[in-house]
Amino acid sequence: MLFGNRFSETATKFGKCFTYTRPQFLSLAFVLGLALLLSSTSGFFSKLQLSYVISSDSRELLNTYSMKINDFPEVLSELSKNFQFDCGLLDQHQLQHIAYNDYVIRRITLTTSNGEQCTSFTGADVEARLAPLIDKLSPNVSLWVASESRNEQNLLVAEWKDQRGSLLLHLEPLISESIRNKYCNDCVLSSISSINNPTVSFWRGDASLFSSAPLFSSELGGGLRVNTFVKKELLARYQDNLWLPLFLLGGALGIICIYLQHTIMQRKLSLHSLVEQGIAKEEFVPYYQPIVDVSSNSLYGCEMLARWKRPGQEVISPMEFIPYVEKSGQILPITDQLIKKAILEISKLNWQATKQVISINVVPDQLESLDVMEKSLSLLQYSEIKPDQIAFEVTERKQFTDLTMASDVIEQLRIRGINVKLDDAGTGYGGFSYIQQLNIRSLKIDKMFVENIGTSDIKLSLLDSIIAFGKEAGMEMIAEGVETEEQSQYLAEQGVYLQQGYFFGRPMIFRDFAYFCKSMASHNHEEKKIEYAA
Ligand code: C2E
Ligand code: CA
Ligand code: CA
Repeated sequence: MLFGNRFSETATKFGKCFTYTRPQFLSLAFVLGLALLLSSTSGFFSKLQLSYVISSDSRELLNTYSMKINDFPEVLSELSKNFQFDCGLLDQHQLQHIAYNDYVIRRITLTTSNGEQCTSFTGADVEARLAPLIDKLSPNVSLWVASESRNEQNLLVAEWKDQRGSLLLHLEPLISESIRNKYCNDCVLSSISSINNPTVSFWRGDASLFSSAPLFSSELGGGLRVNTFVKKELLARYQDNLWLPLFLLGGALGIICIYLQHTIMQRKLSLHSLVEQGIAKEEFVPYYQPIVDVSSNSLYGCEMLARWKRPGQEVISPMEFIPYVEKSGQILPITDQLIKKAILEISKLNWQATKQVISINVVPDQLESLDVMEKSLSLLQYSEIKPDQIAFEVTERKQFTDLTMASDVIEQLRIRGINVKLDDAGTGYGGFSYIQQLNIRSLKIDKMFVENIGTSDIKLSLLDSIIAFGKEAGMEMIAEGVETEEQSQYLAEQGVYLQQGYFFGRPMIFRDFAYFCKSMASHNHEEKKIEYAA
């Protein structure tokens, strides 16, 4: 089970006893701040929105233009074959016909070799060509830009010319009228420029009314670029429309953040404060699980295992709170509380006359500080227990951060006769390198290896390797999780005589453990299996 799950389940199980409250005005300021922050981006988002709307609206027209520009040389020379270049009836009819049938062409003007002109369109005039964009698209064709006299839109002009005369095609504006006037009158303007000479601007409108930078620009093919500008008035309208939705979105995000933080803090603090209360009320108690020497059928000692006893509630397993308290650092006072209680209880067993050992679980952090260890051991002075009847089990599942320090502390403990065992050997970080670096002489073989005895699981060969290693290195070995006679026998055959597990006895309260010790002493040579409820 993941720590997070366990953590929240535990919090729910114990009920909430602590409410996390953040000052109201701070929450309000946070929500308001986020709302204002998001609404201040309305300028940016309005540009984005507007440029998206215009570019998607005008994409089709621009694509048509790009295709046409590339086809101009061929199309125009074909077109020229239809004309007599005398502005006679036939020519005039052709002009009308072409302008009528092609919606991109606004007007065609034909000029004869002697300067006579006829045109397809007799309405309002368009301004003369302003400047050449591309001089020679082909030997006969050049591109120009003109300006629509009414509202200064740039128009693209294509000119075909030979000795018979010329044809001048004024194309419709690149941004269609419907889009230009969709939002407000002449709010969107286009300006055409040549990519080779981008600094030349042909647009002659009132620049102060428009955005200084183009809203977007796109390539038109044939070396041309079209830049689209919008009126500031239009941008302001879009910005105004976006301000409120962004403000509300920011506010909603702020509320969600506050809610999430509140929930997380509440959960954390509720478990944290429950443990805190548990420590203050001394609710953490030691259970004892016997460790038996099967070679002599005698008691080697016991492992002390933590339990949390909350008044009126079920006993809580260490799996529910140990991962959390190891992280929060609350494991230190809990261990002290357990040692204090265990020493008082074990003193009643007259162990000073024996070599029996009580084994205490610690995490690497605890072994990395001599002060922490000294403090725990100072509790021994109130008892009859000798230091060499104490052992520490440090789990390999957690990582050591300062191996040098840990090795010093372990050495100090050894000088006092206190043994340190490597718990869950083979399951965690250090592998067997910890044994060497920390000079550890005892191994606890985890139940995950023992439970494979009698199966063909790969872990069985791992068990055999761990045992072979332990023997080779001359280490003391204790197998945990022994549940069956078969497992016990297998281990004994391999030379692992120190065994712990439900086969001998579950973790139990002191009264039951005292009874277990007594009966073990009196039936020293009988095989004994006692089941106690944990
Ligand atoms: P651990 O150190 O590996 O302890 C052995 C666990 O295996 C104990 O679980 C024990 O009840 C269980 N066990 C023993 N024999 C058998 C068996 O035959 N079959 C099965 N299925 N299980 C068996 P428990 O008491 O629930 O403790 C769980 C873990 O919590 C311990 O694993 C240890 O890592 C941690 N823990 C317990 N007390 C303390 C403590 O005071 N300090 C620290 N730091 N950790 C502790
Ligand atoms: Ca252990
Ligand atoms: Ca274990």
